[in-house]
Amino acid sequence: MNNYEHSVYLDVQKCIGCTTCLRHCPTQAIRIKDGHAVINERRCIDCGECIKICPKKAKKAVCNKLQDMDGFKWKIALPAPTLYGQFENMDDVDYILDGLLKIGFDDVFEVSTAAELVSAYTRIYLKRKDIKKPVISSACPVVLRLICLRFPSLTDNIIPMLPPMEIAAMMARDKAKAEHPELSDEDIGVCFISPCPAKASYVKNGFGSYKSRVDKVISISDIYFQLINAMEHTDNIKSLSKSGMIGIGWASSGGEATALFNDAYLAADGIDNVNRVLDQIENDNIPPLEYIELNACTGGCVGGVLTMQNPFIAKAKLQTLRRYLPVSQNFIPKEQEGEVPADYFFSEMPTYYPISRLSASMSESMRMMSEIQTLRKELPGIDCGACGAPTCQAFAEDVVKGNANLSDCTIMYRSQLLEYLSSKDDTSDGK
Ligand code: SF4
Ligand code: SF4
Repeated sequence: MNNYEHSVYLDVQKCIGCTTCLRHCPTQAIRIKDGHAVINERRCIDCGECIKICPKKAKKAVCNKLQDMDGFKWKIALPAPTLYGQFENMDDVDYILDGLLKIGFDDVFEVSTAAELVSAYTRIYLKRKDIKKPVISSACPVVLRLICLRFPSLTDNIIPMLPPMEIAAMMARDKAKAEHPELSDEDIGVCFISPCPAKASYVKNGFGSYKSRVDKVISISDIYFQLINAMEHTDNIKSLSKSGMIGIGWASSGGEATALFNDAYLAADGIDNVNRVLDQIENDNIPPLEYIELNACTGGCVGGVLTMQNPFIAKAKLQTLRRYLPVSQNFIPKEQEGEVPADYFFSEMPTYYPISRLSASMSESMRMMSEIQTLRKELPGIDCGACGAPTCQAFAEDVVKGNANLSDCTIMYRSQLLEYLSSKDDTSDGK
């Protein structure tokens, strides 16, 4: 995880060091140094909160461009169901899917189709007696990374099932190869149309030892206007959509959990709420539940920073779209009803990667912790951010780790200066 390739970065030229992002980063990954923000890559979970909050638009997401698909002979688009909630007066998903073909894709495979199968297999998985409950969804990559960094005891609760994006990529590739046997693996390019930067990071880095089957990730906001133009040409619209209410419901918080037809679930959205729920599960402070759906973005994926529409409006649009659909259009084969196929599982789950460990040596960690506590008591405790750290506690840690100087705290600096000046006065009085 040391070499984790992120998708959120800072445009230093635009940053004015205002400390807004510093205060909103859920993992305290940001510091202000030399007048601008600096992201600690070990701590960043690519949640995109800093992109949403920056008043100068200095934080950005790095995704692929449509041209990056040019190298593939057969280009497949995997639209996230969130895409369907971005357009005005949309009553038929086929317009969007057809639009994707018109902007250059050779085929479209809906992630919502795979989501319906993941829901069906999760219902089977939950019947197992050998699993740790509550089971935590593996769909939001921000949540997965947050658990790996901060909640070691919960890694065993994560459902080891691949998220719908990966299942869709696998199915789309199989379909392309079956329909076009002349294509090699390298000829086929699979591109996810994403609502958030975390999915781009997930594709670049994989999960544990799992390598993503998606080749490129394009943001919804990047292709939005091109797609709208293409959708204006409504001639020869093909019937492509194979999703029901369940699949499209995955775009909003609660959609994944309600598809389990099991009342013992909890669905939380927004990174602060997610943190709170994970804390409560870790402290065994929740009622008995079967399943926990967690989405880092407010409202679920519809709240992703790379979308175009207000998440609540997008959710309302999706509700209208879903009203005319069957519950599901994707069912697992009869012969597989008792078990989940092996290729639906991660080969290996990631291990805990502690961000709060002070030193590899326990005795050294204890010594540093005691030093931090002593220093913390001396600091003003007003969490002003002027030192470049989000809180006085974080600043004390930075000083003890050697990443900051005590004089970076303006209040400490001032009192040290006054102390020095008065000691000079005392000396001159004594002369
Ligand atoms: S919010 Fe962060 S990135 Fe944006 S200008 Fe302020 S310090 Fe810089
Ligand atoms: S993407 Fe999220 S975790 Fe990373 S620096 Fe921004 S706010 Fe912090």
